[in-house]
Amino acid sequence: MLQELDGKMLVDGALVAAESPDVEVCDPATGTVIGRVGAARPQEIERAIAAARAAFRPWADLSGKARSGHLHALGDAIAADADAMARLMTLEQGKPVNEARGEIMKLAEACHFYAEEATRIHGETIPNDSPDFTSIVEREPVGVVGAITPWNYPAELVGWKLCGALAAGCTIVIKPAEITPFTALAIGAKCVEVGIPAGVVNVITGPGSVVGQALVEHKGIDKIAFTGSSAVGLRIQQSATSVKQMSLELGGNCPLIVTASANIDAAVKGAARRSFRNCGQICIAINRIYVVRAVYDTFVEKLASAADALSVANGIENPDADLGAMASAEPLDKTRQHLDDATAKGARLLAGGKAPEGSVFAKGHFFRPTVLADCTHEMQIMTEETFGPIVGIAPFDTLDEAVTLANDTPYGLASYVFAKDADEIRYLSQRLDYGNVAVNNVDAGIMNAPYGGRKQSGVGYEHGREGMLQYMNFKHVRMRFDLPGA
Ligand code: NDP
Repeated sequence: MLQELDGKMLVDGALVAAESPDVEVCDPATGTVIGRVGAARPQEIERAIAAARAAFRPWADLSGKARSGHLHALGDAIAADADAMARLMTLEQGKPVNEARGEIMKLAEACHFYAEEATRIHGETIPNDSPDFTSIVEREPVGVVGAITPWNYPAELVGWKLCGALAAGCTIVIKPAEITPFTALAIGAKCVEVGIPAGVVNVITGPGSVVGQALVEHKGIDKIAFTGSSAVGLRIQQSATSVKQMSLELGGNCPLIVTASANIDAAVKGAARRSFRNCGQICIAINRIYVVRAVYDTFVEKLASAADALSVANGIENPDADLGAMASAEPLDKTRQHLDDATAKGARLLAGGKAPEGSVFAKGHFFRPTVLADCTHEMQIMTEETFGPIVGIAPFDTLDEAVTLANDTPYGLASYVFAKDADEIRYLSQRLDYGNVAVNNVDAGIMNAPYGGRKQSGVGYEHGREGMLQYMNFKHVRMRFDLPGA
């Protein structure tokens, strides 16, 4: 699969050789160069946008049922090739193969979900003040979408945009992260394989500051769908040179609150999963945990044991490992920095805090899952997104205090609560200032429900019907009739 994609971009229905394929893509577990992609030149960007523009009207004019058929076929093709696509993802991103396979299957699920939604696009009729007028509100696709995606979920974060946009009748130019381009190219190749018309899906590669920025500034792009850091999201919002729609799914700094009524073992299990899965490189990772003082010592001890029990390995060699390599040196450096900052300010290191031992880890970006207790909001770990396998814990005395600490952040993506008392659950879920609140579970996003952040975590939604409506405009058609006998 990699051979077919090496040095390529997907433009106008074909994998074409990039003009200068000199950007190296490395396996983060070994440092080995696995392939190369091009930094798209202006003329390559123009070709991709022109292809998407030419394909737009015919695609938008297809019936919802016909677009649905294409998306179902895409979901089937992706699921059928999940093993190869997962291996490709692990090679460029580092997560263990079984976890990567799970992500590919969720991408297939997104295809089928939006295939169904494509058949249910409908508008409204609205009464006017007099009976000879009526208003119809129709939904129309926005146009050509520029999708810019990060490296932590190279399949799903492309897929939500691709499927929502295609279901709505939009065409798309995708710019994946420079360090994980091949998964996006593989998805693009699947679109060609299942007969999605040429130009509907294009994938161009290269650095965000050049190629992503070109999409943002291009007048031929009607909407930017971006997932990435808050800093880049803000830059994108400020730098568009023509008015265009934007959905921005940005960073997080997500809290977990564990109350006196919580099932502690369930809370520990949830925290271990959501803090360390994908090495914590998840926008909805649990970054900080507030535990009621009465059960604080028990919780920190159990979470440290749970972290110590997790396995770290090369994700190709050990498909079942809990943690693979981190995707690059950058999040690993930030993890070490947050660790040093916290311990210098008095945090207690209870688990991890270092790379796993052994020559097999020498050339990759590996780190043990790390637990820090007695943290305060003077520490970066409690106030900034780390994007690494590390979590800080602090005690609280009252629910009010827990809410104040949890909301003490510029971010508003996801928050978590473990509690059994219904009054506590209601109080916390109402007061947590987040787009997503997960109670007694740690899966804050599901395909059927809208998923989005507030504050510096972004604007707009993915998932659910709302995820498709982000790619549609309203059109108000107001009609006057000459009514017989009036
Ligand atoms: P970045 O913001 O650095 O990059 C995201 C994408 O934007 C990449 O494709 C990047 O390209 C591109 N890019 C960079 N600069 C520009 C620019 N000036 N104009 C246009 N595009 C640009 O984020 P990361 O890739 O480091 O991803 C991690 C971040 O993503 C975290 O903050 C995380 O919280 C957030 N995230 C949010 C999610 C959500 O749903 N809210 C989900 C997952 C992650 P390149 O890398 O090739 O230079």
